[in-house]
Amino acid sequence: MDYKKLADMLFPNITKTISHYEETQFPKRNLEEGAMVTRLAPSPTGFIHLGNLYGAFVDERLARQTNGIFMLRIEDTDDKRKVEGAIETIISSLEYFDLKFDEGVTLDGELGNYGPYYQSNRVEIYQTVAKYLVEQGRAYPCFCTEEELAELRKKQEEEKITPGYYGKWARDRNLSFEEIKKRLDNNESYVLRFKSMGSEDNKFEIEDAIRGTLSMPENFQDIVILKTNGIPTYHFAHVVDDHLMRVTHVVRGEEWLSTLPIHYELFKTLNWELPVYCHTAHMMKIDNGVKRKLSKRKDPEMGLGYYMELGYFPQAVREYLLTILNSNFEEWRIANPDSSIDDFNFSLSKMSTSGALFDLDKLNDISKEVLVKIPVEEIYDFLLNWAKKYRTEIESYLINDKEAVLKLLSIGRDAKKPRKDLIYCEQIFDFISYYFDEYFKIVDKNPDNINDEEVKVILKGYLETYNHNDDQSQWFEKIREIAEQNGYAARPKDYKKNPEMYKGHVGDVSTVIRLAVVGRASSPDVWEIQQILGEDKVRERIKSVLSN
Ligand code: GLU
Repeated sequence: MDYKKLADMLFPNITKTISHYEETQFPKRNLEEGAMVTRLAPSPTGFIHLGNLYGAFVDERLARQTNGIFMLRIEDTDDKRKVEGAIETIISSLEYFDLKFDEGVTLDGELGNYGPYYQSNRVEIYQTVAKYLVEQGRAYPCFCTEEELAELRKKQEEEKITPGYYGKWARDRNLSFEEIKKRLDNNESYVLRFKSMGSEDNKFEIEDAIRGTLSMPENFQDIVILKTNGIPTYHFAHVVDDHLMRVTHVVRGEEWLSTLPIHYELFKTLNWELPVYCHTAHMMKIDNGVKRKLSKRKDPEMGLGYYMELGYFPQAVREYLLTILNSNFEEWRIANPDSSIDDFNFSLSKMSTSGALFDLDKLNDISKEVLVKIPVEEIYDFLLNWAKKYRTEIESYLINDKEAVLKLLSIGRDAKKPRKDLIYCEQIFDFISYYFDEYFKIVDKNPDNINDEEVKVILKGYLETYNHNDDQSQWFEKIREIAEQNGYAARPKDYKKNPEMYKGHVGDVSTVIRLAVVGRASSPDVWEIQQILGEDKVRERIKSVLSN
C-alpha cells in the first residue's frame, strides 16, 4: 500500500508538516533549566469542581516554583458537552482562588505564543499529525458503523475474549487503497484509527511523578484518533497539544491512568519525548464513618461555587489545599508560622496516591488560623465585595456602619491568645449580625436556674447601674454587686464550694446580660461589644427584655 498516496487522498488540504509546526509555530521554549510547563485543560461543561482546583493548584505550584508556565487550554472538541458561559465560569472561579494563568485562554482573548488555546481551533494541527501517521502506515480509515461495532462486541463477548477493535478484529485495518477510495467516493463516513503495534501480553514501565514506577500492559487497541467530523479524540489531542505546547508535566486525575498506555504508545510512535505524568488521587470524604469519593451529584462542597457563595477566603482554601496535597506541609507550617505559602517547597513525591481526604471542618479550622493573620481592613473589603455579589441586602449595612464593623471584627484579635472567630463571609456576617437591630435576635436560652422573673430583676439592676463610661473592670465590678445583691456568688469558686448557699454565680448573671445585649450565650467580650453598640442601643435592648 502506498501510504503517502492514501494520506494525500484523506487529507488533500493538509499541506504543512509536523516539523513546520515544531520549528516555526511551537519551537522549544526558551526557559531556564528545570522550568516546568503545566496546563489546566478543562472541558467547557460548566461545572468546575474541587478536583479541578486541586489539580490546578498542583500545576500552579510547579510552574511558580520553577519560573515556568501555567496555561489554560480549553478542551472543547466535544460539542455535545459544551455549555454557554462555561469558560467564563472556569476562569473566574480559578481567579477567585488566586490561580492566575501565564498563558492561554483569558477573559480578554488569548495570551501567549503557543495557541490557539481552544482545541477546536487547532484542527489543522491534529490533522497534520494524523496525516503523518497515515503516511507511516500507523493510522487508517475505519468505515464500521455503530451497528457493526456492536455486532463485533457481541461476537467477542460470546467468544469470551477481550472486546475492542484490534488485531484480527480490526476489520478495516487492511483495506486496499481502491477499497478505501471506493468508499470515499461513495461518501461513506469514517473515523481515523491508530494502528497499534502493542500486545495484550506485554508490559511496559513508566514513571509517574506521584506514583513512582508503574508497570502497565501495552495498548493494543486501534483507538479512534479522529472522529467522523475530523475532530480529534481526547487521547490524540492530548498527545499532540502537550507535545507542541511544550508541556513538561501533565497533572491530571487518576481516571486517566487506565488510558495511559494509549498515550504512551502515541508518544513513542511519534518519537516525541514523554511529558512527566502526574496522576492525582481522587478527592475523598468521610461520610457516616465510611471513606468514599466526593461526588459531583451528592456533595455540594464538590463544586467551587459552594466556596464562593459562602465567601471562603482564597488564602484559606490555598492553605488548606496544601495541607491535603503535601503530607509535610503542616509540619512546615508549625515551624514557619509567618511565612508565605510560596516559601513552602511543594513536591509531587509527597502527594497521596490513595485518595486525598477532604474535610470541611479541617478547612474551617485552617481558615480561622489564616484569617486571624489577615488585617481586619482586608477582611472587611473582602466581606463587602462578597456581599455585593452574593448578599446585596447586607451591603448597605456594611457600608453605613463600616467603623463599627471594623471594630466588631477586631474584638479579641490583639490578645495574647487571639480569638479566632472568623471563618468565611457568610459565617462572619452571622457572627457580627447582632449589631444590626434588623438582624438582632435572642437565639439562646437563659441558664436553667434563672426564670423570667429573675431575669428581669437582674436586668433592672443592670440598667439602673449602667454607666457607659465605666471601664471594663468598673463594669464587671457592678455585675458582681448585682450578683451578690440577688443571691448569686460573686465568684464561681465560691459557688462551687457551697452551691446550696446561692441561686447560682456571677457567670449566670453575665449570661443573662449577654443574652439581652448580644442575643447569644457565647460571644466576644460584652463590655467591648457594648462600647461598639453605643449607650442607646445597649439601654434599648435591656429595656426591650424588661418590657416583655
Ligand atoms: N479535558 C480533560 C478533562 O477535563 C483533561 C484531562 C487532562 O488534564 O489531560 O478531564
